[in-house]
Amino acid sequence: MKLATKFIHAGSEPDPSTGAIMTPIYQTSTYVQEAPGKNKGFEYARSQNPTRKALEEAFAVIENGKHGLAFSSGVAATDAVLKLLVPGDEVIAGNDLYGGTYRLFTKIYEKIGIRFIFVDMTDVNNISKAVTPKTKLIWVETPTNPLLNITDIAATVAIGKAAKALVCVDNTFASPYLQNPLDFGADIVLHSATKYLGGHSDVIQGALIMNDDSLREQLYFIQKSCGAVPGPQDCFLVLRGIKTLHVRMQRHCENGIKIAHWLRNHPKVGKVYWCGFEDHPGYAIASKQMRGFGGMISFTLKDDSVATATKVLSSTKLFSLAESLGGVESLINHPASMTHASIPREERVKNGLSDSLIRLSVGIEDADDLIEDLRKAIEQ
Ligand SMILES: *Cc1c(COP(=O)(O)O)cnc(C)c1O
Repeated sequence: MKLATKFIHAGSEPDPSTGAIMTPIYQTSTYVQEAPGKNKGFEYARSQNPTRKALEEAFAVIENGKHGLAFSSGVAATDAVLKLLVPGDEVIAGNDLYGGTYRLFTKIYEKIGIRFIFVDMTDVNNISKAVTPKTKLIWVETPTNPLLNITDIAATVAIGKAAKALVCVDNTFASPYLQNPLDFGADIVLHSATKYLGGHSDVIQGALIMNDDSLREQLYFIQKSCGAVPGPQDCFLVLRGIKTLHVRMQRHCENGIKIAHWLRNHPKVGKVYWCGFEDHPGYAIASKQMRGFGGMISFTLKDDSVATATKVLSSTKLFSLAESLGGVESLINHPASMTHASIPREERVKNGLSDSLIRLSVGIEDADDLIEDLRKAIEQ
């Protein structure tokens, strides 16, 4: 089945009680049982909810996986994966991660005895070198946030298999429209559904998708035992979002191409980070594992000062200054003070995230209007 058809029909079955084409919002905490232990498969809404069930099936379908699980946020989904580990275990992670992931790893899990080794994953040899008998999880983000670095998923999976470590890929930036890590052998795919899956900046949610039955059982046990589940209304919103993911992503990609090239040719712009440039160091790998390059672009100005960057950040009109990404409307963000402020400055700068870096989440408005907005802000 082609992507467009798949995204529209994923997880959608007419409601058995009425035939409603959209899965209803089952706003209930519990379900009436006929006799003790005799129920319709639903006992208590932390463990099961029909709206969530439809969404979890949709997650599995769009990522070519067998099982999906929904969480109350992207970081709650990350947290669930980390709960598979025990003190003494080691995790190899990229050195250019979403700030909230880095904070969860270093501020919550490090103190309970899990060790994190951060490496530059643009070269998978750095991953092999960090493997020890204690390595239990390899955490990959590709493309990375905000520098758009690329990691070879298939090569990482080969290292993970040899080390008997799970490989989890945060696929938030690419979305399932552009990349399906399970197809390359990853064990778990993670999404902040807050971003492209929801797509309308109106919900916080996370997703995990996997093929292995026992891994699903362990993660479902964590989901219901720890309770970070999304409410049914949020599940409905993401189910609806997924139906238009393909058309939104097509436009995000088209606008991304135009804006990345426009920025690169602008005399006041310094470096442009976008994995669709043929001279991007990860281009060959990105072309192998992605179907397009998306609408996430970061850049610096030639006048590489925080003051000038701040002026640009505060003067766009269509690009709203806000954290988050992946919605229909364009956003502009200052990673150093916003999304990535939880990473110590020294660590950030060492990995190439300068204080003057500007990140764009290119929305699906008209590209000419977006370019005009950027032109005015940059040329003022
Ligand atoms: C936003 C984001 C997360 C965290 O998701 P929330 O829904 O905000 O909890 C994780 N990874 C990436 C790449 C993100 O952009």
